Amino acid sequence: MKTTYHEFYKNFSCIANLCPDSCCKEWDVVVDDDSYIKYKNATGSFGDKLRSVMTIDQDGDRIFTLNNNRCPFWNKDMLCDIYINLGENALCETCKRFPRIHLNYSSFEEKILSLACPEALRLMLAKGAMQKLVTAENNTEDEPCDYDTYVIELLLNVRQKIFAVLSNDRLGIFDCLNQIYGLCLSVQSQLDECKYNAEVDFSQNAFLASCQNTIKLLLSLDIMTDEWRNLLNKASKYQPSESDKKAFERYISKYEYEYKNLMYYYIFRYFLNSIDSYDVMQCFDLMSLAVKSAYILQLFLFANGGELTLNQRHRVIGLYSKEVEHSYENIEFLTSN
Ligand code: SF4
Repeated sequence: MKTTYHEFYKNFSCIANLCPDSCCKEWDVVVDDDSYIKYKNATGSFGDKLRSVMTIDQDGDRIFTLNNNRCPFWNKDMLCDIYINLGENALCETCKRFPRIHLNYSSFEEKILSLACPEALRLMLAKGAMQKLVTAENNTEDEPCDYDTYVIELLLNVRQKIFAVLSNDRLGIFDCLNQIYGLCLSVQSQLDECKYNAEVDFSQNAFLASCQNTIKLLLSLDIMTDEWRNLLNKASKYQPSESDKKAFERYISKYEYEYKNLMYYYIFRYFLNSIDSYDVMQCFDLMSLAVKSAYILQLFLFANGGELTLNQRHRVIGLYSKEVEHSYENIEFLTSN
């Protein structure tokens, strides 16, 4: 089977105790069956601790009980006690995999990293990172496809056109959104066998006209961290002035590639899901909400502090991914409304 990934995928390495926002806090760690057997049979006091912190959550998943919002095995040196005591192979699948995401399309496979990991995000938002794609054989057999091969070809073809839009240096953030919207709408028209007309304004003004509604929507979702809630609450009282908008537009023009990489990520990760849903606009809406949220929150921080650091720009995008994209409930809500 052919597998496709970006060069950064292979270059990723967890920065462990240097991580500014470890995946060992706030998130539940689901313990898969194989790991459960290993943990059940682990000996000594460490085995006792493993067994004492496993519980079943409301969804029926076996998880570790968090202690002060931290994984109980994340030690004071910000290192993993399971890794230290039992070795890397004893990590459960969730921890072994994160932030690696495997997308299986039966006859081919794609891999990407998660934006919720700060180190992965740093690699993925770097200039040119999304242009370096690698395709290789992965020594596994193709699986039988249960989808329409004509439709997957159509989706792959249009996705290439979207990537071409995103790699065009002459196009800004809003030009890209506009063109991607047009491309998505044309596929949706083909899938639905009817003609949809593109009538959405993707200018900065149009984007920001509904900024309070966007923040309200984000506040209405499930929220995991105080950091995200506080940021949204503060931003909910902010109405951008004309001078703030102009100053931010000038500032962010130097970092448009980060927004383009963000769009690329969403298209790479979600566009081909339409093979099941036949709903291409769902992917566009998810992408556009991520871009809009990042733009509004970065503008708010920029206007408040008079500047914006790379860490702040990245933090906004990473927090959004952690809070919205990685929450099953939130994605379910956004895609069903
Ligand atoms: S978030 Fe990423 S870099 Fe940080 S601890 Fe987890 S895998 Fe490592």
